[in-house]
Amino acid sequence: MPDIAQLAYTDRFVRDLPGDPRRDNTLRQVLRACYSQVEPTRVARPELLALVPEVCDLLGLDTAPTTELVEVLAGNRTVPGMTPYAACYGGHQFGTWAGQLGDGRAITLGEVVQAGTTWELQLKGAGPTPYSRRADGRAVLRSSLRELVCSEAMFHLGVPTTRALSLVLTGEPVERDLLYDGHPKLEPGAVVCRVAPSFLRFGSYEIHTSRDDKATLERLVRFTLERFYPHHARDGALDIPAFFDEVMRKTAWMVSEWMRVGFVHGVMNTDNMSILGLTIDYGPYGWLESFDLDWTPNITDASGRRYRFGAQPQVAQWNLAQLARALAPLVDDLDPLRRSLDAYATEFSSHYRHTMLRKLGLAGRGELATLDEDLLTALGAIMVDTEVDFPLWFRLLAQPAPTLDALAEAFYADPSRVQAAAIERWLADYAHRCRLEDLPDAERRARMDAVNPLYVPRNYLVQEVIEATERGDRAELPALLDVLRRPYTAQPGRERYARKRPEWARTKPGCSMLSCSS
Ligand code: AMP
Ligand code: MG
Repeated sequence: MPDIAQLAYTDRFVRDLPGDPRRDNTLRQVLRACYSQVEPTRVARPELLALVPEVCDLLGLDTAPTTELVEVLAGNRTVPGMTPYAACYGGHQFGTWAGQLGDGRAITLGEVVQAGTTWELQLKGAGPTPYSRRADGRAVLRSSLRELVCSEAMFHLGVPTTRALSLVLTGEPVERDLLYDGHPKLEPGAVVCRVAPSFLRFGSYEIHTSRDDKATLERLVRFTLERFYPHHARDGALDIPAFFDEVMRKTAWMVSEWMRVGFVHGVMNTDNMSILGLTIDYGPYGWLESFDLDWTPNITDASGRRYRFGAQPQVAQWNLAQLARALAPLVDDLDPLRRSLDAYATEFSSHYRHTMLRKLGLAGRGELATLDEDLLTALGAIMVDTEVDFPLWFRLLAQPAPTLDALAEAFYADPSRVQAAAIERWLADYAHRCRLEDLPDAERRARMDAVNPLYVPRNYLVQEVIEATERGDRAELPALLDVLRRPYTAQPGRERYARKRPEWARTKPGCSMLSCSS
């Protein structure tokens, strides 16, 4: 198998798009450009903590790490064919236009062509760029490990996502104020290598429109369509409304998949929304424990709760509206963009409804639509009212003829008499509904277990792995990654990974609340 120097590199982004003429990493506004060429900054003592074999395979890279590979993944060297750059983009953060953001600590090393697909290799935490604003361009171990674990977990769960190739400790400390309370600490620094066909975001387009730079916008949109949506760029003619419609549909699907597995992104700013409908920028994300539509893992979001679990579908639509505004200068008629934006609600709800029925093992038949609606509404009310663990609830419900007792393990607090009665009524309705579909228990269970994960990177589990890794324990991270490879299959001996949140983790930082300070 080829090593890192032998992969098939290309440089489409740098070659085809306008770039910043300057090559230094001084902070600046970068105009009329989609990127700045900039080199990663060297680190002291790289130590490879993880190399993901599935992602090596995507790239056609040998899974046995060489010293040279570790140096490349740490940002200490590049190999011929690589053309490192940081992308220029803007974004709406928490609903407000924030101007130029850009890759402040991400540097794309280059693009690799393998089996007909092109993959960007991007280091996160590789040092300052022109877009680093007031920060250091570095990342800490905890946030880097969280990004690696979650992107791979999402992939194995079947949720559209960017991937992660590697995690390297830099051997250099990084100063962070975890809770923004004036107590900065030195933490181990790390670099993740992320992999995706593209890291273009809604904000990549917004920045040019915000500057009235139609020429650069046009080039970037042409690039995007020709590379990633070629069916909307036939014979050189760009069908921007059709492109927008497809991005809308991909985004609706992605968010409905988040809701299926209980993922809360935590910082759905428009600079964190992929143009390919992939989950990107794993920061202060979290996994739903008890079913709480109002939960947000991000402490920066604790007061407004803009990015709470239940708001994700609407936020995605708001973000799509910003993308539509960014594309508007390139279309003569805004109506098709408006129609797609309006169609989002129907698109999302039909995915979501179907997804929730699948979580119950039901196929959903036209003539049973009203019954299904009532069943789902009543289930939602029960889950909101009682404190049940979201993943465990659906796994336990898959048992043959489930009773209240069979669900006991899913409760964080014992249900009251009234709650218990409501659940029992619902279980009877559910059993009746299954009979109408002639659904045998074994078939129901197989369907449910295929969409309801048993193993997700629970907030407290990942925090335990972070702490173990910080202590020098090198076994916990690969063990967790391995469990998450088969999230739907019970793995004997690994029951502890499926347990609901222990009491100590209820309010612990890193478990229940996360910081952007990464
Ligand atoms: P995020 O919240 O991670 O999406 O980041 C928002 C913006 O802040 C992006 O432009 C990032 O590149 C930038 N940023 C975040 N952390 C750092 C850092 N440690 N150094 C430089 N830029 C950063
Ligand atoms: Mg970001």
